[in-house]
Amino acid sequence: MGPVTVQFEHESHAQRVVFSSGGAAAALGAEVDRFGGRRVMVIADEETSAMAERISAGLPVAVRHSEVAMHVPAPVADRARAVAAEHDVDLLVSVGGGSTTGLAKAIALTSGLPIVAVPTTYAGSEATWVWGVTDEGAKTTGRDVTVLPRSVVYDATLTVSLPVEMSVASGLNAVAHGVDSMWSPDSDPIDRALAEEAIRSLALGLPRVVDDPADLSGRERVLYGAYLAAVAFSCAGSGLHHKICHVLGGRYDLPHAQTHAVVLPYVLAVNAPYCEEADVRVARAFGAATALEGLQALRERVRAPRALRDHGFAEDDIADAARAVAAVVPEDNPAPLSVDDLERLLRAAWAGTEPR
Ligand code: NAD
Repeated sequence: MGPVTVQFEHESHAQRVVFSSGGAAAALGAEVDRFGGRRVMVIADEETSAMAERISAGLPVAVRHSEVAMHVPAPVADRARAVAAEHDVDLLVSVGGGSTTGLAKAIALTSGLPIVAVPTTYAGSEATWVWGVTDEGAKTTGRDVTVLPRSVVYDATLTVSLPVEMSVASGLNAVAHGVDSMWSPDSDPIDRALAEEAIRSLALGLPRVVDDPADLSGRERVLYGAYLAAVAFSCAGSGLHHKICHVLGGRYDLPHAQTHAVVLPYVLAVNAPYCEEADVRVARAFGAATALEGLQALRERVRAPRALRDHGFAEDDIADAARAVAAVVPEDNPAPLSVDDLERLLRAAWAGTEPR
């Protein structure tokens, strides 16, 4: 590994984090008290509303809200904001995956209300200051500390119901936060150290989740890794991988976690040869000879999603997607990439062929 840069600026954002398997109800009560919540809005989707009711039974709930949709459509955000105002809410509690956390963030963005987040997937949105709202097919994202949850309660028992396939895709979405943080535009040595530890924890936990989905030690390791990866990503910003997935999700409505899971090895294959520190750190995290070998061994072990064509991406859209990605590739991406290179990458990801 080349010399580590020791000249950098890094801004950490204040956030409390509680890891308490089986302890969500008590921890949530304590966190809501800490932030003085008296009129709480509990946000959960259809899948998570039963667990949300259970863990929020002791809270001063003013209103429960369950209209949640992937990528936070603007009308859904507007209706949720109106509900919060109508019930004079003073604190938001989100119980769910990235879509649910995302809706709480959309409310916080315009109201300044504090969020206590209880994640039930490994998407990591709860640990970032990134928000996103989709209006008529175009997704706008931004960074604002107002939307960063003041507190996060991680309870691995709440992720046991996440089906294995979704757990794997979501866990690889977290691995992608870690890998992209190695070369994102604002990446610094602190982000890269966190990201390396994140990948190590995810690589240990995910096979256990696949072997025994009810095993809490596996789920805990994945949650911890997902948190660290998201903290790194929040500071480091979007690199090539996230730019590609943002285009694919926004333009062709591909599913978030699965798209990340498929695309990652193709991005790693093109960037690792141009970024020695990333290759060394990611390989070390996986305990492998190279970063790509480590990622592919994990993907094999957990039977990861393989091809974008299995997740709704049409062959006819590859050229259009390559042009759209070319317009947003970060200037300092390690590998120089032409539109043709991007088209080759996307075609390989579409077909699920060996990444090179
Ligand atoms: P999601 O929140 O849409 O959840 C996927 C599915 O799993 C949903 O049907 C949900 O109901 C179900 N589910 C969630 N938890 C469950 C559980 N414990 N048991 C059973 N089912 C459960 O998907 P996601 O991948 O968590 O989040 C994706 C969204 O989050 C995207 O919109 C993405 O853009 C956003 N995101 C944002 C950030 C950020 O930093 N802002 C980071 C990651 C993801």
